[in-house]
Amino acid sequence: MRKLASLQTVKHVRPIDGADAIEAIGILGWECVAKKGEFRQGDPCVYFEIDSLLPEEPRYEFLRKSSFKADLGKFRLRTVRLRKQLSQGLALPVELFPEASGLLVGSDLTDVLGVEKYEPPIPVQIAGDTRTFRWPIPKTDEIRVQQNDDYHFIEGLTGKPYYISLKLDGTSCTFIIDPKDGEYHACGRNYSYIPTSDHSFWKVNDRYGIEVGLRSLGGSLAVQGEIVGPGIQCNRLGLSEVDFYAFTIVDTGSQQRLPLGEALAVAGTLGIPFVPILERGDSFSYSMANLLEKAKGRYRDHFPGAKESQEREGIVIRSICGSISFKAISNDFLLRDE
Ligand code: ATP
Ligand code: MN
Repeated sequence: MRKLASLQTVKHVRPIDGADAIEAIGILGWECVAKKGEFRQGDPCVYFEIDSLLPEEPRYEFLRKSSFKADLGKFRLRTVRLRKQLSQGLALPVELFPEASGLLVGSDLTDVLGVEKYEPPIPVQIAGDTRTFRWPIPKTDEIRVQQNDDYHFIEGLTGKPYYISLKLDGTSCTFIIDPKDGEYHACGRNYSYIPTSDHSFWKVNDRYGIEVGLRSLGGSLAVQGEIVGPGIQCNRLGLSEVDFYAFTIVDTGSQQRLPLGEALAVAGTLGIPFVPILERGDSFSYSMANLLEKAKGRYRDHFPGAKESQEREGIVIRSICGSISFKAISNDFLLRDE
């Protein structure tokens, strides 16, 4: 689970050009705006990441005008720009939070503070009857580069062979043969969907013959990828029909991702498209700021049907061997689309 609220320390405080009442403060890899003088470098704070939904409580009342979502009855934190300064998340003084007293820096406060994650509505395209399925492999997920408290991705990857792929903004799908009973499943983030002729996962399965392909490769590989197209997340790629782009091939026995070369070979054999690879190199040397710049761009460069103005969601950065993986979301996308 993502740590949406946690006890943190203020890493830096910076003035904002032309602003008297506010300043920028750094927490983890994020920057957010705070009242001038509220924090000094090294101060503890309670930090809430973007996508947090805060309960209706007096200590968050000052957010009402900017962030209250009446349909949810909660305050929603999003990426904003104030006086040209990007602000992501919210830092509040620990004094407001008796819940945090005596805890160590980094402690997760998400549950104690009743913070939930904002989730966009489930696309109708993937609604359908589900059955239970116990995941024998890790679910698809990527940590943001700014959430660098427990995972120092950048340091871990520096100097190693890497690749960067385009993050497609759709919904995740896993095609997998259950190693326990040999049953084939098409799964979303949480459920296995029962086969029907109009469910987009099964349409894709039938179009590419994925089940047959996986069985003919021995049955121990699973394909994870993104379902994109009309009816899914605003179809930001501008496709005319639902399609699938693989980003991971996993061995269900070892539970390991295949290295890039092997994954591309398997996708090729199965005849499934792979997410666009923007770059690969022998020695990773990006800083966080450089990755956040690299994340920016338009889908149009890879998908001719996408609107000219459509910002891409971001990038996914991985080691060639597949063991390290994280994402950088475009701040231009967050400012425009959220
Ligand atoms: P968060 O974890 O930030 O709260 P989230 O759980 O909704 O957000 P996403 O922002 O959707 O996750 O990012 C992870 C997802 O990105 C993966 O589950 C996968 O479905 C999708 N994805 C799209 N393109 C790629 C790609 N090129 N490589 C890996 N994953 C990708
Ligand atoms: Mn996630």
